[in-house]
Amino acid sequence: MRLETIAIHAANHIDESSRAVIQPIVLSTTFERAEDGTFPGGHIYSRASNPNRTLLENVLAKLEGGADAAAFSSGNAAGMSVFQSLAPGTHIIAPDDMYHGLRNQLKLLFAGILTFDFIDINDSDVLESYIKPETGLIWIETPSNPLLKITDIKKVVAIAKQHDIKVACDNTFATPICQQPLALGADLVMHSSTKYFGGHSDLMGGALITAEKSDWWEKIRQVQTMGGAIPSPMDCYMLARSIKTLPYRIRGHVHNAQLLAEHLEKHSKVEAVMYPGLPSHPQHQIAKGQMSAFGGMLSFTLKGGEAEARRVINALQLFTQATSLGGVESLIEHRASVEGPDTKTPFNLLRVSVGLEHIDDLVADLEQALN
Ligand SMILES: *Cc1c(COP(=O)(O)O)cnc(C)c1O
Repeated sequence: MRLETIAIHAANHIDESSRAVIQPIVLSTTFERAEDGTFPGGHIYSRASNPNRTLLENVLAKLEGGADAAAFSSGNAAGMSVFQSLAPGTHIIAPDDMYHGLRNQLKLLFAGILTFDFIDINDSDVLESYIKPETGLIWIETPSNPLLKITDIKKVVAIAKQHDIKVACDNTFATPICQQPLALGADLVMHSSTKYFGGHSDLMGGALITAEKSDWWEKIRQVQTMGGAIPSPMDCYMLARSIKTLPYRIRGHVHNAQLLAEHLEKHSKVEAVMYPGLPSHPQHQIAKGQMSAFGGMLSFTLKGGEAEARRVINALQLFTQATSLGGVESLIEHRASVEGPDTKTPFNLLRVSVGLEHIDDLVADLEQALN
């Protein structure tokens, strides 16, 4: 089945007793045993599994083309479970512009347990030079946040396979509608479902999807069940509901982002636009090779420096100045001030989560703010 069909059907299940067409929300924390002590409903206790979470995990696995998925209470909880699943002493290679929340997790919570290097992962020679016998994981994020850099997934996977190293890909910006890392050879996909999966800026969630049910995956499941960083039945229901429209929402985000990027690129006050769908993007050809669409996120820099960036952001009326992304409403953010003192993000950069408003209204608002 195609993605649009999977999105609508893979998390649904007609309830036997009520014949409700939409999956009921099951709040029960515990499930009755049969006389012989087994669990005929397939669930024991909701920290381990819950009907709403199982259905959500089913649609997530199918959308990414994986063997199984695990849903978490946030993207950071999903990422943390990956790090917790690794043996102490494991070395991780991650991009130098890794999502700052996960980079800080490694630096502040896993120092002394795991070792890690943050490098320019796109340079094969640099990547090869950092691989050690203890390297167990290469973490990638493409397109990256907030510079929209593209990592050549197949190229990284080829290097990793030579050394028997696992590859995990943060696919939050692309979503499986635009890019499917497992099909390109990655072992694991991570999502902040707070973003496009949720799509309405009203819930937090995370997900991991595995290419195969390996011992490593069992360990990740153990971290999830024992650690308990699980989403509530209500959040699982809301996510399953939002995912039904994901393929069509992404089409709208992609359409608006492409037009907005092209418009900004022509503007005299704009220094540069970072969007993988622009032919001027340095890795446009790689993006074309591994993405079926270029996503709804873009960043741009202003000629007038940080002061001009702050002026523009405050002059906008339709774009809300707020962090996060992937909702139906357009958001804009001065990213360097969010990321803290060690940021590599230029101070004249604004990051935009392009929403589903009419493109003419978005362009008009940017025009009035820039001029
Ligand atoms: C938001 C985000 C995360 C973290 O997810 P939370 O749901 O906020 O915990 C990780 N990676 C990327 C690329 C993100 O945008």
